[in-house]
Amino acid sequence: MKLFEKFQPLAATRAQLAAFGTLPIGVVTERIVSATEGLIEGRQVILAGTNNYLGLTFDPECIEAAQRAVAEQGTGTTGSRMANGTYGGHLALERELAEFYGVPSAVVFSTGFLATMGVVSTLAGPGDTILLDADCHASIYEGTRLSGADVVRFRHNDPADLEKRLRRLGEGAERTLIVVEGIYSMLGDCAPLAEIAAVKRELGGCLVVDEAHSLGVLGATGRGLCQEGGVEDDVDLVVGTFSKSLGSVGGFCVSRHPELDLMRYAVRSYIFTASPAPSVIASTRVALRILRERAELRERLWRNVHHLYDGLAAAGFRLGPQPSPVVAVEVGSQEQALVWWHDLLAQGVYVNLVLPPATPSGTCLLRCSLSAAHSPEQVAAILAAFLALRPIAGEARGTSVP
Ligand code: PMP
Repeated sequence: MKLFEKFQPLAATRAQLAAFGTLPIGVVTERIVSATEGLIEGRQVILAGTNNYLGLTFDPECIEAAQRAVAEQGTGTTGSRMANGTYGGHLALERELAEFYGVPSAVVFSTGFLATMGVVSTLAGPGDTILLDADCHASIYEGTRLSGADVVRFRHNDPADLEKRLRRLGEGAERTLIVVEGIYSMLGDCAPLAEIAAVKRELGGCLVVDEAHSLGVLGATGRGLCQEGGVEDDVDLVVGTFSKSLGSVGGFCVSRHPELDLMRYAVRSYIFTASPAPSVIASTRVALRILRERAELRERLWRNVHHLYDGLAAAGFRLGPQPSPVVAVEVGSQEQALVWWHDLLAQGVYVNLVLPPATPSGTCLLRCSLSAAHSPEQVAAILAAFLALRPIAGEARGTSVP
């Protein structure tokens, strides 16, 4: 079939990757043991490549809430939020999110991808402009494609480039959506939100921040980078996900603009998909309460971050620019990255292997992510596994080999 021909190059890439052993993409967790351990290829490994930042996937209270909901409300809603898929729990979670952020409106979506894509594609349309950071997530790019708006990328984390491009739009700045993330998922670096907010204050625009990786991680009460940077009043909409710090699946948007509540009637990825299952909503509500009440989880997470980031930096590994729960180790070549990924797995440590084009600036990454649920011993074991790696011929470990 002609239409399938374009996928043939993928077969070649897959075969290349498989030549090194276990296929590093779509790795099978044969058994999940805890928030930080699983069985891969028959071996128990430390999971250092999840987004389980607060370690809540096995929290007893979250599990109990989900079990009760599935017993009482069934396995799924079988319908869209707009039809039969809005239960009391969905509305309660929206109220709780709005209250947490101190805003009038919140909308719950079925995934973070659908939230981000839906909000971006619906807020901006033909005749409008979207200015997005070049390193934005695929869901944001997808939203720009669907919007029909003019799409302009600005250099990653470069407020001066944003300012130049926004200034060029003149009056059009008022009809411009500016989209950035809190913590960027690949290198773990934060957006310079104070400077971005200052540009928006001066020139206009509507600022959307995707806090997928920063909810529960940053800010005095865990609201994310906007809270940490003191810019919440300048941000028009925050989008986020339940699939990281909250340990379930789903997405949300909150806004200080009450019009968000009307927007739900226009967002296609909200209208034309089934709503999250009651068990998902129930565990997410408990996880949100825990995120708010147990600041010690955030403290434990950051202790783990500094342990790993500082240890890898001291050993000469080339890392993302700042410590964060995403600790990305940049590797010079694809071959080195593959050899090291397998070596780490053989030592009982699973990390994400990220290869171009999914990485910024074409680098290969061994992307570690930390959890509050990692014990100090587990973090020490992850660090020790990296320290045991030896460069293959012609490659360096990092900028300065110890
Ligand atoms: N935005 C960003 C920045 C993300 O990293 C992700 C997931 N990796 C999403 C949105 C999508 O979230 P979800 O997994 O809930 O679809």
